[in-house]
Amino acid sequence: MAQIGVSRFCERCGGEASAVAEKSNFLLHVILTGLTLGAWVFVWMALIGLDAALAVPRCTQCGPISNKSAA
Ligand SMILES: [Zn+2]
Repeated sequence: MAQIGVSRFCERCGGEASAVAEKSNFLLHVILTGLTLGAWVFVWMALIGLDAALAVPRCTQCGPISNKSAA
């Protein structure tokens, strides 16, 4: 449970690639959610959004995908 599946365009493969991005520590967030009586879940959701936006996806065929043009 350490990765998020994402679908990205891979320039090297010339098509859609099923890529994976590193995901933050699931168990850590579960513990923090418990310790903060559920309040941490809002921080967690924000971090998931940040992870998806900032993570460098890896094409399952050829490796890391560099999205130079992607905003
Ligand atoms: Zn590729």
